[in-house]
Amino acid sequence: MNKYELIVIGTGPAGEKAAVKAAYFGHKVAIIEKEALFGGAEIVTGTLPSKTLKETALYLSGKYEKGLYGIDRNLKQDASIENFMYRKNQVTKSANQEIYENLLRHGVHIYHGTASFESAHTLKIKGAKEELLHGDHIIIATGSYPYHPSHIPFDGVRVHDSDTILQIKRFPRSLCVVGAGVIGCEYATIFSTMGTHVYLVNDKAQILPFTDQEVARALVHQMQENEVEILFETLVSSVEVPETESEMISVKLKNGQTLQVDMFLFAAGRCGNIKALNCEKIGIVTSDRETIKVDETYRTNIPNIYAVGDVIGFPALASTSMDQGRVAVAHIFKTEDLKHLPAFFPYGIYTVPEVSMVGMTEEEAQKKQLNYCTGKARYADMVRGKIMGAKAGFLKLVFTREDRIIRGVHIIGNIACELIHYGMSIVEEKRTLNDIIGEVFNFPTLHDLYKYAAYDGMSTLSGHRVKP
Ligand SMILES: Cc1cc2nc3c(=O)[nH]c(=O)nc-3n(C[C@H](O)[C@H](O)[C@H](O)COP(=O)(O)OP(=O)(O)OC[C@H]3O[C@@H](n4cnc5c(N)ncnc54)[C@H](O)[C@@H]3O)c2cc1C
Repeated sequence: MNKYELIVIGTGPAGEKAAVKAAYFGHKVAIIEKEALFGGAEIVTGTLPSKTLKETALYLSGKYEKGLYGIDRNLKQDASIENFMYRKNQVTKSANQEIYENLLRHGVHIYHGTASFESAHTLKIKGAKEELLHGDHIIIATGSYPYHPSHIPFDGVRVHDSDTILQIKRFPRSLCVVGAGVIGCEYATIFSTMGTHVYLVNDKAQILPFTDQEVARALVHQMQENEVEILFETLVSSVEVPETESEMISVKLKNGQTLQVDMFLFAAGRCGNIKALNCEKIGIVTSDRETIKVDETYRTNIPNIYAVGDVIGFPALASTSMDQGRVAVAHIFKTEDLKHLPAFFPYGIYTVPEVSMVGMTEEEAQKKQLNYCTGKARYADMVRGKIMGAKAGFLKLVFTREDRIIRGVHIIGNIACELIHYGMSIVEEKRTLNDIIGEVFNFPTLHDLYKYAAYDGMSTLSGHRVKP
């Protein structure tokens, strides 16, 4: 039996970064992957493919440039589904190759097959052949899979989850998306940008409940302008798929409405990938939605076994999963370089338009009964925004009144997911409105949004407003 100091199960962002880091520090490491492609939901079924489809939809539709240059590009009318998927397939292929080369470069031994526990130190791999491996330490980084409720007849042809929607063979004439979380909102806006009529069905009265609700409402408004029809506070009771593709799918809702649509995407919830692992055999403690319970060092109840990434649940992001993998390795091998994740990390929602946030929302400030205030700046008022032809979008600062410390930054608009990182350092370092006003930024840039939101906050405090 081959023996390793560390075995990692899964080559998603959590597993890859953990394996590579341990190997970099000179340890003998193996990684196991059950799929043909490396990269898990980050590369194959989630982050990169969906983000690339968003960029493709913007490019083909010319949405952000419409009317700006006196001559319009609209490639979407002539684009085939192959054109739409082309760049996504290229990006997935090259990212998969990059992971493979990164693992090889660091001397990580790669095994193909499905891993399961024989004991706390022994893994069985079922692939082309069956073999056993010994690991002094094991990191579970097996990710998650889309939740399939029993009343939805998933077929991967017209009724999809977030994995199979990436393999469609033609554009949907209309689409019903269920779930106004991150994945549901992203796909709703990607397809509506491509001209598909989209219904977005949500059980609650608001979307993206963890975001600042002023931003969420602005996104709802933008989606509605882009012809996404949002049906709030209702659930799907049944989905009837006819025999022929020329007939529409009937989606019955609990509110009595029936939608006739060409395709259906269920994007509400994910579960941890633990079924194949045989956790029960060695007594690993699990939790809701098939997640694994860990402590603050990502150690499970079995001392030599750690778990990181989506398989431990919230926040279930590629960004945090990578660092959870690195933190677990730091604890296992005492590398002393990364003890825990930072207290504040950003959320990026790649809708059209993008939404990003870090720190406290207005709703959280209210709940904590803080004496808070906000400052806002609109893209359309910034010189850079005018060059870009930005019509909507804003940046909002949430700060405490007595010390002017910025507690949260919330952005909706073009490249919000890039702009947020300055906000991250502001919140982390507890900087004030005066600190931001004192900065000099390149001009013209969208970073001016920070400065003018800080000025706006100052005028609210002083009661002296020049503009309404
Ligand atoms: C549509 C979509 C969009 C997303 N967008 C973003 C985004 O914009 N930004 C962001 O930060 N995050 C995003 N995410 C979330 C992000 O993709 C995940 O948080 C991240 O991929 C989790 O990484 P992981 O390594 O834990 O698991 P995964 O990426 O799921 O990888 C797990 C790997 O383990 C393998 N595996 C599972 N079981 C076994 C076994 N028994 N034996 C061997 N191998 C096994 C799987 O095949 C897979 O390769 C998105 C997710 C989806 C679905």
